[in-house]
Amino acid sequence: MSNDFPLSHEELVKLTEKFPTPFYIYDEKAMRENMRYFKKAFSIFPDFREYYAVKACPNPYILKILAEEGCGADCSSLPELMLSKMAGIKGDYVMFTSNETPASEYQYAFSEKNIINLDDVTHIEFLKKALADQNGDKSSGGLPKTICFRYNPGPLKKGGNAIIGKPEEAKYGCTREQLIKAYADCKAAGVEHFGLHTMVASNELNPDFFVDTAKIIFELCLELKEKCGVKIEFVDLGGGVGIPYKPDQKKVDLEYVASGIRKLYDEMIVPAGLDPLRICFECGRPITGPYGWLVTKAIHEKHIYREYIGTDSCMADLMRPGMYGSYHELTVSGKENAPKDHVYDVVGSLCENCDKFAVQRPLPKIDIGDLLIIHDAGAHGRSMGYNYNGKLRAGELLLRQDGSVKEIRRRETIDDLFATLDLDGVKNFK
Ligand SMILES: *Cc1c(COP(=O)(O)O)cnc(C)c1O
Repeated sequence: MSNDFPLSHEELVKLTEKFPTPFYIYDEKAMRENMRYFKKAFSIFPDFREYYAVKACPNPYILKILAEEGCGADCSSLPELMLSKMAGIKGDYVMFTSNETPASEYQYAFSEKNIINLDDVTHIEFLKKALADQNGDKSSGGLPKTICFRYNPGPLKKGGNAIIGKPEEAKYGCTREQLIKAYADCKAAGVEHFGLHTMVASNELNPDFFVDTAKIIFELCLELKEKCGVKIEFVDLGGGVGIPYKPDQKKVDLEYVASGIRKLYDEMIVPAGLDPLRICFECGRPITGPYGWLVTKAIHEKHIYREYIGTDSCMADLMRPGMYGSYHELTVSGKENAPKDHVYDVVGSLCENCDKFAVQRPLPKIDIGDLLIIHDAGAHGRSMGYNYNGKLRAGELLLRQDGSVKEIRRRETIDDLFATLDLDGVKNFK
């Protein structure tokens, strides 16, 4: 568990009188402090930039707070691009790292002057075609003036896990050989500015992993300079910085990561004449993950082959445990110091047996009505939810720096759920 819940038991009980469970709550102050730590660690680089991965917590209030702390946005779809714009994140502070992208989304990103990061070499022609009607200026061969490609180092990069898979089995990015040709072609077409991107980790806690990734990327920067005469101006090392979901895990030491990368920068980038090279990350999880909690209530208990606690939430609100078997710390409000002398499966209401927030977890005795706090849910939490079984997703609250609470997304209603159905038409349907 990486961060303490910011409300006392009495404060939380009071809050649930106004906002019934389940809900998400985010801690603005802790989020800002963490972002300052993150930026400070990387301030040893010229013009470091963090593009927050919007998918982790796509709420414009959160994006606005992060933008105030100097973050850009990393987007993978048109709605994410639009949300970033609504939060005031614009131009090259938006990185568009998408997959299997429709032409209309490239057109929008281009018209907003966002950085387009191509996942494949065939997307050069696709992008040209998409922009053909839009791009008056043909000086860069119908392409944006700035282009970035996603690199997949394949078996060169060991590792991978259940979330991201092994690089050589992952659908993302281009091979080294493809990139050498692609950058040469883009340069010949008149593209002026180049970036290079990779993302080969997810929820990785080993700091050396990120230093190794930087080395692979820097090597490719040198090769691209030598073979294509292309000067890479920014490298995006992706997301993937893990958080300590389990009590015995440790936070990634970002100062260690930054100084490890800085050493390589001085050894490789500076002598090659590639300085200044902007270092970027597009982390989501370590930026908001530890500063968001899902609060739910125990509404049932049953005693069969195991002891079960049934909650008023389910995996429609938080998919990670059901989908990846992920661990999330769970505390019982007001019983933080009570002995963990019971073992429970704490479950949600879906007709899926994987809908368990905690499995065989030692916890204090839970009574009906107890408030359960599920930790580290501020990234890939609410955003991954869905409406299976007709479940309505929880709303989101923001704990402001002055201690007040603002609802930044209301709970879904049945009307929201039925909004896409033809309810009038069905009455006359035979
Ligand atoms: C998911 C994703 C991220 C963010 O990952 P985190 O683990 O939340 O840091 C960044 N970039 C890309 C391309 C992604 O797919």
